Amino acid sequence: MPTPKLDDNSTQQLKATLRGRIIEPTDKDYDDARKVYNAMIDKKPRLIARCVDVADVIASVNFARENTLLLAIRSGGHNAGGLGIADDALVIDLAPIKYTRVDPAARTVTVGSGCTWGDVDHATHGFGFAVPSGIISTTGVGGLTLGGGIGHLTRKCGLTIDNLLSADVVLADGKFVRAGADENSDLFWALRGGGGNFGVVTAFTFKLHKIDIIYGGPMLYELSEAAEVIKWYRELIPGAPDDLNGFFAFMTVPPAPPFPENLHLKKMCGVVWACTAPQSKAEEMFKPIRAFKKPALDLVGLLPQPALQSMFDALYPPGLQWYWRADFVNELSDNAIAEHVRFGYALPSMHSTMHLYPINGAASRVGKHETAWNYRNANWAQVMVGVDPDPANNEKTISWTKNYYDALHPYSAGGAYVNFMMDEGEDRVKATYGDNYERLVAIKGKYDPDNFFRVNQNIKPAKKS
Ligand SMILES: Cc1cc2nc3c(=O)[nH]c(=O)nc-3n(C[C@H](O)[C@H](O)[C@H](O)COP(=O)(O)OP(=O)(O)OC[C@H]3O[C@@H](n4cnc5c(N)ncnc54)[C@H](O)[C@@H]3O)c2cc1C
Repeated sequence: MPTPKLDDNSTQQLKATLRGRIIEPTDKDYDDARKVYNAMIDKKPRLIARCVDVADVIASVNFARENTLLLAIRSGGHNAGGLGIADDALVIDLAPIKYTRVDPAARTVTVGSGCTWGDVDHATHGFGFAVPSGIISTTGVGGLTLGGGIGHLTRKCGLTIDNLLSADVVLADGKFVRAGADENSDLFWALRGGGGNFGVVTAFTFKLHKIDIIYGGPMLYELSEAAEVIKWYRELIPGAPDDLNGFFAFMTVPPAPPFPENLHLKKMCGVVWACTAPQSKAEEMFKPIRAFKKPALDLVGLLPQPALQSMFDALYPPGLQWYWRADFVNELSDNAIAEHVRFGYALPSMHSTMHLYPINGAASRVGKHETAWNYRNANWAQVMVGVDPDPANNEKTISWTKNYYDALHPYSAGGAYVNFMMDEGEDRVKATYGDNYERLVAIKGKYDPDNFFRVNQNIKPAKKS
């Protein structure tokens, strides 16, 4: 589509209307402002609106619509496919809408959509509570929640969306609505997994869980033991008590404490555990885990929930080159495990990895039609992650990721977790939502009939009648 012409007057008008800043290509900090977490993404938006409140969001949505500008929504900017920004777009940057309000009596927290999960963990931990999120604290609340939210507490508390009570939303026509179980319930259903397709969420209210200390951390094994470890792990996790979560990973040991020097830069495999049972019970639960095989490194112990959530932040700072591919998986067959091990040995860089995240336990007891998130019956979300600081190595990391994905896709359940997808086309999005897709199309048709919100894993609206 040709880029619409914007006259100076209307941009000046927007500047005068907003309390937040508008950043243009001529501004000194434009290049910094357009950076997202994945340094492989190099998009040049027309305007970046640093919104400080809901009124700023409404004005920006109206401005983009009236000037036929493409609109992108950015919360934490972590999306690996770069869906928080777009060429020639007006970007609604929600980062300044950063506030948290914990209500300890009601056991809820309301979060401005510019928060990262670290902001939420900090606010809730002070009261001895937690909200289930992911495994890195710098990820944005906005994108992670709207896509689903898989992490250390998935088996105990469900996905992040299973703990969402309501959302404040600015729609394509600029109207502000609240979505919850009793208010705009169709929109609320779609927001829980449907990504940024339906509006700009300006605040989220979550249910809190009484979780502050976790018995967890990584347990590493030799790569030569990987097949044995995955086979043991695939039997253990689906039937484990909800208190026990553990994601499997291939990794290269970082050359820094707390890892011992003899393991530095060694390719290994392991499980990152998170157990919410009280210490004495947790130690009992770990007796058979430790008895299975002596790990080469056992860093599992008591730690505050935010410490576990931020344990890998330093390893994955912003500015690395990221490429990933993913699938849902019902079963880990022996043949699939053999392929995993082959690619585990071929990890192309220190930061590259593969994770298998459990989505059983509490997450599997939510019906597949209760929210837009369809793959409740799968046991794992699998993601192959090619990461390197140096763009010169992109060819190597991308081809490892693609080849790994191609080798394992035939063993998968079909679709992938939207938050672990690159730009992979409409069929992949359809496969992901399965038989929830048609309902999403209808709800998109009601709330965004012109597909104004399309910088996302896009669900095309039902045709207007
Ligand atoms: C290092 C790293 C670790 C990760 N770990 C996990 C994990 O453990 N678990 C997990 O589930 N996922 C994880 N992810 C994936 C993550 O959930 C997605 O990348 C997600 O899109 C990031 O959200 P964001 O707000 O930071 O992204 P952004 O790039 O800001 O936005 C991503 C998408 O969400 C939409 N969006 C964001 N905010 C809003 C809003 N307020 N209203 C409407 N639409 C919005 C945008 O339009 C865009 O399409 C991880 C990603 C990275 C890079």
